[in-house]
Amino acid sequence: MALYENTLKQMDKAADLMNLDHELRDILNEPQRVVSVSIPVRLDSGRLKVFKGYRSQHNNFAGPYKGGIRYHQQVDLSEVMALSAWMTMKCSVVGIPMGGGKGGIIVNPKELSEGELERLSRGYARAIAPIIGDQVDVPAPDVNTNGQIMSWIKDEYSKFVGKDTPGVITGKPISDGGSEGRDTATAQGGVFVLEELAAEKGIVPSETTVIIQGYGNAGGYMAKLLHKKGYIIKGVSDSRGCLIASEGGFDPVRVSEIKAEKGSVTDARGMEGFENTEICGEEDFLSAECGILVLAALENQVTAENADKFRAKYILELANGPVTPEADVILAEKGIIVVPDILANAGGVTVSYFEWYQNVNDEKWTYDEVQEKLVKIMKDAYRDVSGNATEYSCDMRTAAFITAMKRLEVLYEDKK
Ligand code: NAD
Repeated sequence: MALYENTLKQMDKAADLMNLDHELRDILNEPQRVVSVSIPVRLDSGRLKVFKGYRSQHNNFAGPYKGGIRYHQQVDLSEVMALSAWMTMKCSVVGIPMGGGKGGIIVNPKELSEGELERLSRGYARAIAPIIGDQVDVPAPDVNTNGQIMSWIKDEYSKFVGKDTPGVITGKPISDGGSEGRDTATAQGGVFVLEELAAEKGIVPSETTVIIQGYGNAGGYMAKLLHKKGYIIKGVSDSRGCLIASEGGFDPVRVSEIKAEKGSVTDARGMEGFENTEICGEEDFLSAECGILVLAALENQVTAENADKFRAKYILELANGPVTPEADVILAEKGIIVVPDILANAGGVTVSYFEWYQNVNDEKWTYDEVQEKLVKIMKDAYRDVSGNATEYSCDMRTAAFITAMKRLEVLYEDKK
């Protein structure tokens, strides 16, 4: 139960410090419901392959469960449970009326054809249809899932209940009920949080280098948004390798174009505008000197084994769970400030909530309306967390959990 253990350690630390109600603590220690499903899929070859999937519904005191669906070969029950608990905390940190859920399928989607992927997604939708719904549990994209997959799941669920139900899932394409601004929301939320941190700590973008691990939805947009704000993009990586500038930075818009065309960020090396770059190993990449290290790939990247090597001044967690509790202690001793996932990447679920709200109320908001609401929520959340960090003399992660648990405590009082 490795990853879930990490979540429990983080929750315990905050619960001890704030003296959380013991009943609520016991309740939050376990997901309310965890479902394991098997999904038989006819492959293009004619062979039948059975995939394993999960859905964990951690807590719904604030509203319907909310959380992404991950397609990855390393998905396991502990991971899905941990991610669902973090979703409960994340929704509560930003104060949106949703609970915490998460789902996943053990699969490497890159090995499937488009047709196989569709059959797998529709099969998963049928398997979890009895426990999701626009007032019950509202999934969304996560690693290796996208708007097209959300559309298939929405369609299959709508067939199951016999009526079009766009609010059952978020992260859909705009043409199929999606919201303006959802694609960039996670990174944009991270930028709003960073703006508050920068104002508090005196960070000057034009003098600050940034290294970003992971170049998908979260990391790719983050690189472009920060570059636009004047930050120096010094390094980027994806599952195929790491690209780092020996001096100065480079243009992430070009990186995205090259990755789209050739497959990896590392293909930019030596091209025009990238004469100053080299390819390096993951260890050198993560431990390179920089102002801000953005972790936007997967969990457990900074551990007790490698934490001592990190030389960033700040770490911003766009990924969920990239720093283990043991590594947190080492980073704090080194004076590295970690802006935790449940605050830094909450922009994604916030705009997912906006999408759900528009769907169930038959509204359509403009991009500017979405940004206006998002910036307020993210900056208020930062200030709440920062205030609790001061009040309880603790790190930002613990303060973020305290912020979340205080709100859950109020909701629990009403349910007693
Ligand atoms: P994605 O599938 O779009 O991208 C993941 C990226 O990470 C890819 O570029 C992949 O090549 C890279 N990667 C994988 N392993 C790597 C490694 N060892 N080193 C470097 N790069 C590696 O996924 P995403 O949606 O961007 O999600 C990334 C993280 O952000 C996940 O932890 C996810 O849970 C979290 N997150 C995403 C959202 C969202 O809205 N997309 C919201 C909140 C949190």
